[in-house]
Amino acid sequence: MEDVNGRRYLDFLAGAGTLNYGHNNPAIVGRVIDYLSCNGIVHSLDMHTRAKAQFIAAFHDIILAPRALSYKLQFPGPTGSNAVEAALKLARKVTGRTNVIGFTDGFHGMTLGALAATANSAKRRASGVSLNGVTFMPYDGYLGEHVDTMDVTARMLKSSGSGVEPPAAILVEMVQGEGGLNAASANWVRALASLARELGAVLIVDDIQAGNGRTGTFFSFEPFGIDPDIVVLSKSLSGFGTPFSLVLIRPEHDQWQPGEHNGTFRGNNLAFVGATAALETYWRNDDFADDVTGKAMHVRARVERIAAALPPGAAWVKGRGLLTGIAFADAGTTTELVHRLFRADVIAETCGPHDQVLKLLPPLTTSLVELDLGLDRIEEAVETCVPKVAAL
Ligand code: PMP
Repeated sequence: MEDVNGRRYLDFLAGAGTLNYGHNNPAIVGRVIDYLSCNGIVHSLDMHTRAKAQFIAAFHDIILAPRALSYKLQFPGPTGSNAVEAALKLARKVTGRTNVIGFTDGFHGMTLGALAATANSAKRRASGVSLNGVTFMPYDGYLGEHVDTMDVTARMLKSSGSGVEPPAAILVEMVQGEGGLNAASANWVRALASLARELGAVLIVDDIQAGNGRTGTFFSFEPFGIDPDIVVLSKSLSGFGTPFSLVLIRPEHDQWQPGEHNGTFRGNNLAFVGATAALETYWRNDDFADDVTGKAMHVRARVERIAAALPPGAAWVKGRGLLTGIAFADAGTTTELVHRLFRADVIAETCGPHDQVLKLLPPLTTSLVELDLGLDRIEEAVETCVPKVAAL
């Protein structure tokens, strides 16, 4: 990125994960420009357009069919939060239950239903009303490495004495993007999926941040072999950073009546065109996913080395795929680091309940050379500002 004065930055934030394919990717933006030049319909409410039909066909052929996934596609309002609202409403309607299981450090959006399932106390406080209908369970690792939180969760949800209402849905991220890059293990996720099935609860995977290739596969749950009932996608879905969300619904759960979750901005055809271009350019075969996995391994190895060079316990690596970062024992360090990095022309963010995690979210298309350039600057910044804090 270049600012108004011509100063150049390496973007390791990528629009909070909306720019997995980079800024203004020519293969995507070119198709959008062509569509506009040909006088394509830009806004269409929820009506049929060729751009929408092409997106649905591409999503089916390129993403769902090869993965043997069968989902209906719902286009909610364009934000991630609105997709979460739709998913929660539908799960409650389908099951006739109201309670939802959310997880510690989970983040699902700022509208009231999604916020009720968001754990962060500062975000919750801003709601101005009581946030109801969600019971929080400990995410994988929340109670320390020696406690299997799935044992706790299963016991709480299966016991008639725990006081927890039978859930309509279990809402979960595979990697908690805002919550501190906590990555759930395969065993934990598989046990959660079978628990949801046993309880008759709708399993909703929030893949808004971890999806669209961020962890190396299109969906973040793919390596675990689970088959969620509902998946919500947004952020990088449009391919070029415009608002666009999608709710994937197991066909038997599509019990919506017409207009039950309507909205004015569900027919953004520029997003359909960009999304189709992204799917056709990057997901027709495994090359892109393999490339992301290779880069993720490289980044992981480097951040592991950066953390290992610090005094024991000062820092540790978190996350999965290219949704990775470094947690610092002293939370203040991370904010200082982010400011220092900005002065060194690297844009990066913090995450976690105490902003203690340095989050690296570069576009998946970033070259290895540019990744290394950014990582060199991160290494320098960590070397200069962490030891003195860690040594205290
Ligand atoms: N879920 C997850 C996992 C997210 O990361 C976010 C955004 N950070 C949301 C939901 C909410 O999306 P939006 O900000 O577009 O409403």
